[in-house]
Amino acid sequence: MSRFSPVKKEIVESAQDLLRKGYLMATGGNISVRILGEDAFAITPSNLDYTKMTPEDICILNFDLEIIEGKLKPSVEAGMHGAIYQVRGDVNAVVHTHQVYVSALTLIKTPIPSLFDEQARFLGRSVQIIPYAPSGTGMLKNTIARHVKNRNNAYMMQNHGALILGHDMERAVHNVEILEKCSLAYLLAICSEKKVSKIPLAVREIAFAKLRKDQKKIEHGDFETGGE
Ligand SMILES: [Zn+2]
Repeated sequence: MSRFSPVKKEIVESAQDLLRKGYLMATGGNISVRILGEDAFAITPSNLDYTKMTPEDICILNFDLEIIEGKLKPSVEAGMHGAIYQVRGDVNAVVHTHQVYVSALTLIKTPIPSLFDEQARFLGRSVQIIPYAPSGTGMLKNTIARHVKNRNNAYMMQNHGALILGHDMERAVHNVEILEKCSLAYLLAICSEKKVSKIPLAVREIAFAKLRKDQKKIEHGDFETGGE
């Protein structure tokens, strides 16, 4: 047992939940949680099947990517996760998946406009495409860090997959589900070749303002979960 045991357990349980629901596959994707009050985070290891993963396999890293605890090699995307925690004080959980419908939209480089109220409320104004950069590189890390500054909670990585943020892991997992629903609905709508309707701009802005209000509360440490 270590002081990181609860957060390690949360990561394994969340990864296996995402695997059961079909958002994670085999060893693809990676998830992390911020260690509150420290410049550190917990992340899944590189190339380990989620069905075999145990809390002891989770890596604890500081923002310089030095290993604080853990025997396995951390995910190759650890740099991307660490960069997000440094630029987004409101984010305490990061999920990166190769979920199918989002991945399809990244191939046709098609961002998702505001289609649903809950999308604007929890994911942001739109789901943008972050330009391609090879996995595990400083180029990808820097590109991601630049894009997440717009305070959305979901992004699509060109020819790669999805990037989802949350103020905690439970919220991040819900956001994964909202994103996949939006992606599938949007793909089907596009295929109809009819005009796709969006929610009214004013509604989008009210929903996004609520998200921003939550984010500011989290950054100031007075956020109560379970509202709304
Ligand atoms: Zn990936």
